[in-house]
Amino acid sequence: MFNIILFGPPGSGKGTQSQKLIEKYGWKHLSTGDLLRSEIAQQTPLGLEAKNFIDKGQLVPDEVVIGMISTALETNPGVPGFLFDGFPRTAAQAEALDKLLQLKKTAIAVMLALDVSEEELVKRLLNRGQSSGRSDDTDESIIRSRIEEYETKTKPVADYYNGFNKVVHIKGEGSVEEIFEALCKEIDKRT
Ligand code: AMP
Repeated sequence: MFNIILFGPPGSGKGTQSQKLIEKYGWKHLSTGDLLRSEIAQQTPLGLEAKNFIDKGQLVPDEVVIGMISTALETNPGVPGFLFDGFPRTAAQAEALDKLLQLKKTAIAVMLALDVSEEELVKRLLNRGQSSGRSDDTDESIIRSRIEEYETKTKPVADYYNGFNKVVHIKGEGSVEEIFEALCKEIDKRT
C-alpha cells in the first residue's frame, strides 16, 4: 500500500490536487472536510455537532474525526492506498493515524505539503465562497480563524512527520498542472 498525506492550509489546493491524484493513482480519497459536510447534509448527530465548530472556523474535536477515519479505513479493504486530505490536522490526530495504519501493517509513505502565502489563501477562499456554497468560505473573519487554527494546531503535524523525514514541500502557487506535475514527480520517486 502507498499512503500519502496532502498537507497545507485551507485554500492551498488540496481538494483540487487530490481529485487529480486519485484519478491517476487509484487511491481511496479520504477528506475529513468532505466526510463532515456529508454528515451535515444528512443531519446526523455527528454532523450537527461538527457544524457548530465548522461555522466558527474552528477545528472539530479530535475524537470525532479520528472515529470517522478509523471507520473509513475498515470499510475500504483492498485499495492500493489512501490519500489523506485535511487529515491529520493536530498532533494527536497524527499519532492516532500512525497507530491505525500500524494495525493494518502499513504506514504513511510521504507527506506532500503545499506552500501558499496567506494573502493568496484569503483571495482564493473568498473567490471559492462565491460558488462553493460553503458558509465558512464567505466571511473573511472566519477564513482568518481557519488560517489561525492551521498556524497554531495543524503546522505541528508537519514537524511530527519531519521527525520521520517524510515531509516534502511543494510550491502551491502556479498553474494547477504545474503543481500536479511537481506532486507526481515526488510520488513517482517513491513508488
Ligand atoms: P476542509 O474542507 O478540509 O477545509 O475542512 C472544513 C472544516 O471542517 C474545517 O475548517 C474544520 O472545521 C473541519 N475539519 C475538517 N477536517 C478536520 C480535521 N481533520 N480535524 C478537525 N476539524 C476538521
